[in-house]
Amino acid sequence: MASKRYDMRKRFRRVHLDYHTPEFPAGALEKFDAQGLAETLAGAKVQVANFFAKCHYGNCYYFTQAGHRHCALKHDMVAEFLQAAHERDIAVSVYYSLLVDDGACQRNPDWEMRAADGSVMAGVFRRPCISSPYVEELVLPQLRELLTGYPIDGLWFDFTLAPYCACQYCRRAFRIESGKLLPKGPDDPDRAEHAAWRRNESALLMRRIRRMIDQLKPGTQLCGNWAYCSVQPDAVPVDSVTYLTCDPPTSELGQVNFSYEGRYLGATGMPYELITTRFHEGWGDWTARPAEMLKAEMATILAAGGTCCIGDQIYPDGTVEPAVYQTIAEVFSFVEEREEVCANSESVPFIAVLNGAATSSVERSPGGGYEGLENVRGCHLALVQSGMHFDIINEAALLSRLADYRAVVLPDQVALREDVVQAIGKFVSAGGVLLATHRCGLMDENGRQAKQPALASIMGIEHRGVSCYSNSYIVCDDRNLLAGLPAMPILVKGPSALVAPVTARPLARLVHPLTENAPGRFVSHRQAPPGRDSGLPAITYEEFGKGKAIYVAPDIFGAFWRTNDPRLRRLVANLLDVAIDKKLLAVKGSASIEVSLRKKGNEWFLHLVNHHEEKRVAGAPTLERMPMVTDIAVEANLRKGQKVASVTLLPGKTPIEFSQKGGELAFVVPRVHIHGIVRISFG
Ligand SMILES: [Zn+2]
Repeated sequence: MASKRYDMRKRFRRVHLDYHTPEFPAGALEKFDAQGLAETLAGAKVQVANFFAKCHYGNCYYFTQAGHRHCALKHDMVAEFLQAAHERDIAVSVYYSLLVDDGACQRNPDWEMRAADGSVMAGVFRRPCISSPYVEELVLPQLRELLTGYPIDGLWFDFTLAPYCACQYCRRAFRIESGKLLPKGPDDPDRAEHAAWRRNESALLMRRIRRMIDQLKPGTQLCGNWAYCSVQPDAVPVDSVTYLTCDPPTSELGQVNFSYEGRYLGATGMPYELITTRFHEGWGDWTARPAEMLKAEMATILAAGGTCCIGDQIYPDGTVEPAVYQTIAEVFSFVEEREEVCANSESVPFIAVLNGAATSSVERSPGGGYEGLENVRGCHLALVQSGMHFDIINEAALLSRLADYRAVVLPDQVALREDVVQAIGKFVSAGGVLLATHRCGLMDENGRQAKQPALASIMGIEHRGVSCYSNSYIVCDDRNLLAGLPAMPILVKGPSALVAPVTARPLARLVHPLTENAPGRFVSHRQAPPGRDSGLPAITYEEFGKGKAIYVAPDIFGAFWRTNDPRLRRLVANLLDVAIDKKLLAVKGSASIEVSLRKKGNEWFLHLVNHHEEKRVAGAPTLERMPMVTDIAVEANLRKGQKVASVTLLPGKTPIEFSQKGGELAFVVPRVHIHGIVRISFG
């Protein structure tokens, strides 16, 4: 069945219609009205809807022969909604709950995922394993039904990253393919190999689904929630998903998570959507958040090059809450005003932050959330709060276009691939800037310990082990590095590596705490104050070829993520300021303004996004009224021959006075409320 082709890259306004519906409520599904729902969405300016084919209960909302229809299903809801939505130019991806299917596990207990001790996984819904016959006997037959019987525009899979599982099928498959038993815990030497194997199981399934699409209904969009996002930083295979999606938690202020994930997803080169929810505390909360807060999240997503999706939930009886769509209409008007200049734009390369798959395999459980990414996330937050423009990249992006960047930051990337090390050496040698921290390069991509960090020769240091103290102090006398900082020891909560300079110049000293606070022997309330000088540097500086390599021994980014001590991010910003001679961009305003520089044709688009959270002592973050930020000074270093014709603040097309002297451009943005876009047109 053919369906109209939509240009999904230009469809910025999306809703995700959650509909996990048990069978017991009286009146379930009874009031569903496809025409009425589609009309409501069209009134709220929605361009794409994710609509349920199968939910976490394993209940289906279409006339499936292969699976379980919701017991109250009288009409084919999917068919009716597709028709009603298409009549209003709304594209539809159907939602399929992959690794959560309560009903399938109840009917087939051998399909359920197991912990190492053989117990089933705790949780509200039971979860089948993709290594079990679940895929052959239920998933693929159902996808065939949807692809051949319905004019769907896309398949949207939830829970696609398989976590650790010790079911009989996983034990057997891993043993046959690796010759090994499943790892039993985080210290198991085969953990990294198993994590990579498990990630590959998920990847193979998505590629298998793509082959099915190519055979049965070519052109159908395909995505998996969190597949190839920052938690799975593998290169996206060309024969797999067609776009990326995920729903970062909004329990921290959503803006931060959308910025983090967007900067990673945008650098993959894939189209992507980021999903927030209308709910105050998250999915299934039946509450509503203020329009101002949703606008701020949309702005953050647009500034990172993404498309915007808002999650709603349909009531069990099949109706939606009309007030929610009044809010969504207001929020999507905000998006509509900005989307044209955002479509098909790309980030201007300046600073790259590596989030590597090799380190991810060593540090994280397969299928896990953001655990183990504190260093990358701390680095992201430090650079955002410092008003810096940057991308977060994986190894594939680093290998293909590191030369486009001025600096690369490796936030505690403990495991580095050999080809990545070589590319970084070449980059620095040719004049690039490297900032590496803590345990960088102590392991190879299989998690095996190296004698010396892979980057030791570039950084001009020798590894001497790890400090016995759980905290450290950085003591620095360099005035450039201390700009804006009080001249006193800087506490870094978390362990430090011990290194000795070989050819590098020490920039700061590593001072141990007076003692390790322990029961019966401690100094004051928290950690001990500065004590002995370690005799080793905390920060080193090396000139390598035409470039510069800076190494920070303590876990500075992890510490910043955990403590939010602004001195740590200021020190990082000072290090980059000193190392990068001619900065692409310097934005001086407020730490609340996030900066992103994108380009399209002969124009640059400088996104300035305001971040704010109202004061609270408990509960979820909220934002009813964003404060205005005024007089944001911008300086940029242009390429030779780039001549600025005009500078305009969008939306609204307010001209901004500017000055250009040689390659130096300067102007002041008078005000930014939630999101201002400065269009810089070159003559
Ligand atoms: Zn399994």
